[in-house]
Amino acid sequence: MEVTRRQALTAAAGAAVGAAGAVGAVRVKEHLDESTPLPFYGSPVSAVRPDRSPPSAAGASVVWSGPGDRRRVALTFDDGPHPDWTPRVLEALEAEDVPATFFCLGRNVRDHGDLHRGSVGRHELANHTFDHPDLGRYDWSRCRDEIERTTQLMKKTYGIAPTLFRPPYGHLGGAALLAATEAGLTSVLWSAQAREDLVAGRPDGIVDDIASQVRPGSIVLAHDTGSDDRLVTIDRLPAIIRRLRDDGYTFATVSDLLATSRASATTPSHT
Ligand SMILES: [Zn+2]
Repeated sequence: MEVTRRQALTAAAGAAVGAAGAVGAVRVKEHLDESTPLPFYGSPVSAVRPDRSPPSAAGASVVWSGPGDRRRVALTFDDGPHPDWTPRVLEALEAEDVPATFFCLGRNVRDHGDLHRGSVGRHELANHTFDHPDLGRYDWSRCRDEIERTTQLMKKTYGIAPTLFRPPYGHLGGAALLAATEAGLTSVLWSAQAREDLVAGRPDGIVDDIASQVRPGSIVLAHDTGSDDRLVTIDRLPAIIRRLRDDGYTFATVSDLLATSRASATTPSHT
């Protein structure tokens, strides 16, 4: 029989005053997860190696955006390359003379890697795992496998190793952070995104919605493959670029955006 929330709460209250024996079988589920201990080592949230050996890196780098001192923005496209939309995105970027960063899936590089042959040196190609799992559920060795397989394949396919990593769904547990960091990758989230669901029924609204989120240094999340609702953004990519340009923005790859902050952080200041 289903236990209603009210019954469960009543039972929990009973347990709290010492009647645990009578209500032992009843639990308030939403509280259970918080009190259930996680394994000390080896769980997805642990940033310690399961065998307790020392990590191969000293510190992690995670970014949501670049420096806010210049009106620069980085457009990013996840989950490709794929024949459905990647060529359209590349064409729009070419026509507007704008660089972008593509967070690629290893399985798509394997199947459609040629789509980015001309992107090397023009755009940035980065690591988005091999099969797009939720790394929030993966331990360190599985996170490492997803990241390393993708990096190896990208090196073989494009001749350069990625330096950036984006965790699928933005789920970045300790194990994924440790694996990405040990692989020498900066973990890149985002500070603005294409929110197609918010403009359902008025697709042109995507231009205003993205422009309203962008600030100097923003990293903008979009996708170059996926469900059809995302075409709202793909169809309006030239309009989005022109709007941001009208707002005074120039465009950079994520690494170029971040390089500015690293350079300025190490440049002696003159007073
Ligand atoms: Zn993704």
